Amino acid sequence: MRLLIVEDEALLARQLAGAAAAAGYAVDCAHDGEQANFLAGTEEYDAVILDLGLPKMDGLTLLRQWRQSGIATPVLILTARGSWHEKVQGIDTGADDYVSKPFQVEEVLARIRALIRRATGNFTTELRAGNITLDTRAARATLGGIPVKLTSHEFRVLSYLMHHQDRVITRSELTEHIYAQDFDRDSNTVEVFVARLRRKLGPGSIETVRGIGYRIAQ
Ligand code: CA
Repeated sequence: MRLLIVEDEALLARQLAGAAAAAGYAVDCAHDGEQANFLAGTEEYDAVILDLGLPKMDGLTLLRQWRQSGIATPVLILTARGSWHEKVQGIDTGADDYVSKPFQVEEVLARIRALIRRATGNFTTELRAGNITLDTRAARATLGGIPVKLTSHEFRVLSYLMHHQDRVITRSELTEHIYAQDFDRDSNTVEVFVARLRRKLGPGSIETVRGIGYRIAQ
């Protein structure tokens, strides 16, 4: 799963990015509206955290543009304290949720989990497939109740497949959702991650659908 964090306050952006990375997400940060617009238009995200007060292009304008151009990615807006009209405007413009500043990072992450859950048609924080369980709160996987040690990229591959159990995921889609923008990408490494996951979770845990991609086994 991959997040875009749009926040011009450097310290806050770093805090959010650090917590999101620790929670298992691939994270990109934009520090002004133009950079955010560029990234949202060229990259694939599972959710966006969007501050409304931004240099160069404000958050509401960005959100309006994204929704008008058909970008449906869940967006959590960060609003100023006590500003109810910002929340109303933001939600009417297409935000899926909001958190007011100052906030606890844990609350932001919980709301992001909920947005991703809803967007992918899942209803619980624990996702299951066969005897594999993925705890999205703790960013942990278990096999038959026993914890499985995964690298961050392995976790992201498994998390993406577990969130999308209803369909086959292409290698390029997986690649889009497990790396941050500045990461040197190679779609062949997805095969390597899948092979390692099969070693850890069982050879039949991830099915290859010839010529299309991968699907988590039920
Ligand atoms: Ca701001």
